[in-house]
Amino acid sequence: MIMFIKKTTILLFFFSFFLSFCQNKSKPTEIWEPIPNKIDAYNFSIAPSDAVVLFDGKNFSSWVTQYSNQSPKWKINKDGSMTVVNGTGGIKTKQSFGSVQLHIEWKTNENVQNYTGQSRSNSGVFLQQKYEVQILDSYENPTYVNGQTGSVYKQYIPLVNSSKKPGEWQSYDIIFNAPVFDKKNLIKPGYFTVFQNGVLIQNHVQIQGTTTNVGLPKHEAHGNAPLVLQDHCCLAVSYRNIWIRKITD
Ligand code: MG
Repeated sequence: MIMFIKKTTILLFFFSFFLSFCQNKSKPTEIWEPIPNKIDAYNFSIAPSDAVVLFDGKNFSSWVTQYSNQSPKWKINKDGSMTVVNGTGGIKTKQSFGSVQLHIEWKTNENVQNYTGQSRSNSGVFLQQKYEVQILDSYENPTYVNGQTGSVYKQYIPLVNSSKKPGEWQSYDIIFNAPVFDKKNLIKPGYFTVFQNGVLIQNHVQIQGTTTNVGLPKHEAHGNAPLVLQDHCCLAVSYRNIWIRKITD
């Protein structure tokens, strides 16, 4: 028993050291105030008839692994949801998209003991593989506010915090206006509008560049690209009922 406690203590020490190393690099771009007001929210979801259903609970037929284009190693659950298997990598859609309306439901993990800040159910929705709307357990879990759930990561703080408790299903409805490039140059900026649980949390914010954790975002020219769901770390997030509508703007 004493040996087990000693080993656990050593592991925790190295884990804390690793975390603090990462945090030191990312700290200069963290903003902690003002903290968005906490409000209550409710949600509902029905895929419109012109939507592309990306996940209906049955299989991963619309998805591959983010970097190796193989069948995803994430878990499909009996209740029609899927769960991230940490360490297997993110997943991306086989199809590429430009500007879209996206509906996605997600649930953070209830086993929050010993997890705080960015380590508590960190995932994310990347439009065109580059622009992240953060998913995190932000229910009574302080972190830098431009990295809490509903942030356009390291670019925009959500207007309010409409997060539900860990283990409760939540939703994002995202309107994404894709940036337009002429070879190397940005000729039309991209925008995000985001609803969390039916509440507006991002109001037509202009995308500043590719999401980055260290340093400031920069624009990188690209065309249509897949949607990515992130495998970050520590506590697995679940997803269900994902559909998307192409929009022209
Ligand atoms: Mg994330």
